[in-house]
Order: sequence, then structure tokens, then C-alpha cells
Amino acid sequence: MDTTTFEQHESEIRGYCRAYPTVFASASNARQVDEEGTSYIDFFAGAGVLNFGHNNPRMKEAMIDFLQADGVAHSLDTYTTTKRDFIARFHEVVLAPRGMDHKMQFMGPTGSNAVEAALKLARLATGRREIVAFSHGFHGMTLGSLAATANHAFRQWAGVPLTDVVRLPFETAPGGRTGIADFAAALRDPSSGVTPPAAFLVEPVQAEGGVNVASREWLHEIQDLAREVGALFIIDDIQAGVGRTGGYFSFDGMDLDPDIITLAKGLGGFGTPIAMNLNKPEVDAHWSPGAHTGTFRGQGLSFVAGTVALDHFTDEAFLASVLSHGEQMREALEAIAAAHPDRDWEVRGKGMMQALDTGDGAFAKQVQQECFERGLLIGPCGSGGRVIKLIPPLTIPAEDLTEGLDLLAQAIDAAAK
Ligand code: PMP
Repeated sequence: MDTTTFEQHESEIRGYCRAYPTVFASASNARQVDEEGTSYIDFFAGAGVLNFGHNNPRMKEAMIDFLQADGVAHSLDTYTTTKRDFIARFHEVVLAPRGMDHKMQFMGPTGSNAVEAALKLARLATGRREIVAFSHGFHGMTLGSLAATANHAFRQWAGVPLTDVVRLPFETAPGGRTGIADFAAALRDPSSGVTPPAAFLVEPVQAEGGVNVASREWLHEIQDLAREVGALFIIDDIQAGVGRTGGYFSFDGMDLDPDIITLAKGLGGFGTPIAMNLNKPEVDAHWSPGAHTGTFRGQGLSFVAGTVALDHFTDEAFLASVLSHGEQMREALEAIAAAHPDRDWEVRGKGMMQALDTGDGAFAKQVQQECFERGLLIGPCGSGGRVIKLIPPLTIPAEDLTEGLDLLAQAIDAAAK
């Protein structure tokens, strides 16, 4: 393995490569192979991007056809046939069956771009400034999205203005059960000095924050309060959406009606970058043409692969497999926790985002290393990196899932010795 080129010429900011010290050369579904031919089972899937596997064959074929036909690869926000196909299919597969009439807004290609646009639209639509965000929330690395992100380590030194963000405890954090009610009481009390925010921004399943799952009741409390005080209810489904938790959205079946939903990561299907917000029509109407621009809003390859990705959501067998694989992951983690009764570990998750909270960042890091040495890629998350998060491709073959879970158990045993 020769990593000198990277070490000599790439910025010190390099991160994941330090946890996975090899040079990857090819990938297929839930496996990556390095240039020496070692195969790794991928339980990280590009930080939740590769929901449909590396080099998904149907997407690859559609993209090759598109390139051979000289499709429009980059289009700003002009009308193209590939964008029309994507919009029509998204409406047919996702919005129409849910009775949703949200408008699709494309912006820059990353999740942070989507969150920025949502925050700006909330301010524009309400004429207010403050955003309510939650402890352990992760919304991105640009200054606005970072202000809404909870982790101090990412933003303290960056001097991110925090005055316009009100941080409330997430449901599962200390004070989380009463946080919304307390804030509601302050909003209703004119002597409190607390004024209504522009929006509430929440991940129904916090991914980077440690795989914390909100209940339907708690999310309804937020939505109800938002409605009461004329604020927008924004759901960030950038990591937990696009099938990860079993439905298209992580809040499917909860009867919620968000004003804005942010999507990115898995939306392009192939790792092809694309971000999209779903804005309720009356909220979207506040935008004037060109009010929020971005060069990379029309990536032909992302529309092509993203349109194929949507076929998964009309495939009952696929949707059932996400739930059964999620169950298998959960059971495996529970068995691991049960095999270490001396440790105070907790298993949490939803669908195919499952996690083991080890309570110890150094231990989780060691597990990550033990996994790597055995040919398994995982990514820790949560406070101090103490939570082992599993987010394999949703299309992972059963034998790879089983083998990966076995490798994880071995790695944890080794680290716990
Ligand atoms: N929101 C959530 C929930 C995320 O998980 C992420 C990325 N981890 C982002 C926003 C930011 O996305 P990006 O890194 O593509 O800017």
C-alpha cells in the first residue's frame, strides 16, 4: 500500500483515510477492494450515500446510455429531459402516494446546501431570524448549517454566530421529554422575552449525533408548536431518508406534515451528488426566481441514477428486505451486548441504521480499527465518537450482511479483551 502521494500533497484535513489506511481501487454493492486485492465489507456506505450499493448495475447501465446519447451532463437549472424524468418519477413514487404536493427545489449538491436553503427560506417566509435546533443534531459544515449543528468541536473555533439558534434537548437527551413543553410555556408567556422562531429543524433519526430515534409523539409536539406560533417545521432527512429506515422518509407512517424536508446523500443513488428540498407550495411561493442560486443544480448523471433509484420504492420485496435486514442487524448487536454483560452498552436504531452505544470513544475507535483489520468498514458517531453505527447499503447481499456482523462481533471481542 503506497499512500505517500496523499501524505505529500493532500491537506492535513484528511479524515476517513486515517481510519481506513489503504488505497481503494474498486467497489461493487457492499464491498470495496483495495489495490492489493483485499476485499472489505462496507457497513459505512459513503456515510449513508450508497443506499443502493457501489456501482449499482442498473444505474450504471442507465448512466452509460445517457453518456453515449450525449445527454446534458450539466444544466444549471435549465429544463432537461433527464430532470423532467426525475421530477415526474419522484412525484409518482414518493409524493403522490403520500398525498404530498410539495415543490422540489434543487440547489448545490450537498446536504449542507439543502439545509442552508431551508434556513433561508424559513427566514424569508416568516420574516423572523431564530432557528430552533436540537442537541446532538448534525446539519452540515457551512456556516449556517454548522450554527444549527450541535457539536461544539466543529464550530467553537470557527466563530460561528450562535445568537440566532435556540438549542433544545433532543427527545432522548436529558431534559428532552419536557424541553418542547418548557419552550412552549416560555413562548406563551409575554414576560419571558422569548420570541417565536422562524423554524424548528429536526432529524427524526439523528445519525451523526449517535443514532437517536425520536418518537412520533415528540415530533408531533414540535409540529404542533410550530403551527401554533407560525414557525416552519423542517425535517432534515439527509441521512435517515431515501429508504434507510424502511420507508422513503424516516418519518413515514407518523402522519407528519413538514413544511420543508431536506434530502441529499442517497438521493442521487450512485454517489452522484444532488440535494433537493421539498417545500410546501405556500412556503415555496416566497422564493422569487433566482433568489437562491447555485452552479451545480442540474447534474444529468445524478438525475439519471436518481430516477433508477426510485424504482426500489415500488419493489415490495426490497422494502421488506430493508426491514428484515434491519432486524438481523439489531439482533446481532443485542447478542453482542448480551455477550458483554459487564459493559453498559445500548443498542438503538431504525431500519438499516442500527448502532451500539459503547459509551467510550477510545473503545469505539479501537473497534473500528479491529474491524478494518478483519475486512470490515464501520464509522463511529455520537458524543466523542462512542457509538458504533452500522449503515450498510440497503442492497447488501444476505451473506455479506451475516459475514460483516460476524466480523463485527469478533472485532468487539478483540477490543474488549
Ligand atoms: N444533515 C444530516 C442529517 C447529515 O447527516 C449530513 C451529513 N452527514 C448533512 C446534513 C450535511 O450533508 P453534507 O455533508 O452533504 O453537506
